Order: sequence, then C-alpha cells, then structure tokens
Amino acid sequence: MRSAIGIDLGGTFIKGALVDETGKILYKEEIPTIAMRGAPDILDRIYRLVLRLSAPEGMAPRKIEGVGIGIPGFIDDRTGTAIEVVNLGWRNVAIRGPLRTKLDKPVYLDNDANVAALGEAWVGAGRNRDTAICITLGTGVGGGIILNGKVLRGVTVMAGEIGHMVLEPDGALCNCGHRGCLETVSSATGVVRLAKEALQAGIKSIMDPEDLTSADVFVALEKGDEVAKHVILHATDTLGRALGILANVINPEVMVIGGGMAKAGDALFVPLREAFERYALQRAAKACDIVPAILGNDAGVVGAANLALFP
Ligand SMILES: [Zn+2]
Repeated sequence: MRSAIGIDLGGTFIKGALVDETGKILYKEEIPTIAMRGAPDILDRIYRLVLRLSAPEGMAPRKIEGVGIGIPGFIDDRTGTAIEVVNLGWRNVAIRGPLRTKLDKPVYLDNDANVAALGEAWVGAGRNRDTAICITLGTGVGGGIILNGKVLRGVTVMAGEIGHMVLEPDGALCNCGHRGCLETVSSATGVVRLAKEALQAGIKSIMDPEDLTSADVFVALEKGDEVAKHVILHATDTLGRALGILANVINPEVMVIGGGMAKAGDALFVPLREAFERYALQRAAKACDIVPAILGNDAGVVGAANLALFP
C-alpha cells in the first residue's frame, strides 16, 4: 500500500506521521519546535523526523511517495516558500527546495488550516462528502474549503481565510490590521474579550475576569449567567452569519467545526445552527450539516500526507 509523511509545523510542536493511502496513521512522533533556534535548525529537524518516520523501529522501511507540510502562515506554493510565519518569526523562508534536495522526494506545502481541513474532509467528519468547509475555533479562527477532495487555494493561497471576514467594521482590532474580523468575535480569544469587556463595564456576572477562558464562559452559561449568555449569542450569531455567507457562495454539503470551543457541544452548536439558518438561503442551509470535527490534533498530519499521496 502507498504511504506518505505528513508534517504539521506549529509554534510549539512539530508533529509528524507516516500515513497510508486510506488515511490511517501507521506511526507518529512529536518534537518541540524551539522557534528561537531559527529556520535552518527547524528544517534540519524536520528532515531527520522524516527519516525516522520513513523507517520506524520495528517496522519494515517504506517507500514513501513524498512529504506534505502544513505551515502556520502565508505561503507561496509556486516557489515553495513561507512568506510570513508570525509565530516562528519567519519571512521568506525557502522550505520545499532545501528539503526536496536532501530527501530526494517530492515535498508539498500548504497552510496549516488548509491541511487540517483536508484531513477532516478526507477521513474525518467530512468523509464521503463532496464539498466541505472546515473551521477551527482556537486562538483565532482557521478555515479551509475542500472541493471534491482538493483544497481550494485561490491564486495566492489565500482562499479559506474565513477568520478574516470583516463582519463588524467598527469592531476590535485584528492581528491582520483590519477591524472586526470574525476571529475577533467568535474565536476562544474573541469570546474571552467580549466577556471581559462586559465585566469591566460592571455588568453583574459569576465570571471572574482573572485567567478567564472560553471554557469558563460556557460553564457560566450553563449556570444561567446572563453575561455568558449574551457573549455566546453574540459569538454564535456572528459565526452563523459567516457560515451563512459561505453556504450561499460555496453551497457545501457539510461544515466541520473543530478547535477547543467545539468541545462545548450543543451549547455552541444549537445557537450556531439557529443563527446559520437565519442568514443562509434556505436551500443552501437545508443541504448543509454542521458537525463537530473528529480527528482532533491528527487532522493536520493526515491532511498534509494527503497532499503527497494525491497531488
Ligand atoms: Zn483579521
């Protein structure tokens, strides 16, 4: 059976896996990123990680098709360069060329949200669906659009940047420089920001602004806290509007929601679905399921391997 290596490069960890053509992980390993050591050191450790994954202890060495890598930033897939990776302090770092030379294998790059979406669409919650949009609600809002098993990348690999849809033009400043992007409201960070603003304005609540997390907001919601209720309604209404717009434009069969916030379950999904139906055209909404992601942290490595297995 054919297999490939998927690498998920993160700010804290580099995850790697040997994945077969059915999407099954045969072996995986995780190493610290140690961003401060710089790009050449990280690329060298990715190279050695690929070698270990190609011939794991106790397993016969495999002929791998190639290596796919998810990069947490903007990439240029024509030149194989990471244009900007804020978490790693990278600007214009050549990735594909040096690795391909050392490995003598094809190397494929994509944005980390795109590869996670591809993983979920391939063997996760979007399996066997034609068109899937996958959204990760974490520190930001990541997104990827998968059409017939392929990532929709657009002309400069900017397709799927769902988190930066401007939905509140006078809203909070986003890392991208615009105001009121989806991720300023509906990410875990956005939910905490909204809750803290209400608490600072003196509105009565059981929440403590100290060390507040989005999970704390959902706990308060369950206890009937009015501020938490208002915050989650705001966040789900805004996300529902974004998904409604996407449903009208792309008309997908499924939208897969992952990341820490998706663990809230019905407390997130019920108001989200209601908001989505308020904003999407009826035929588009009816055709589209909104479901939780199932691959968790493996989505990135599985999706990255898919790039090399089905180029
Ligand atoms: Zn933004």
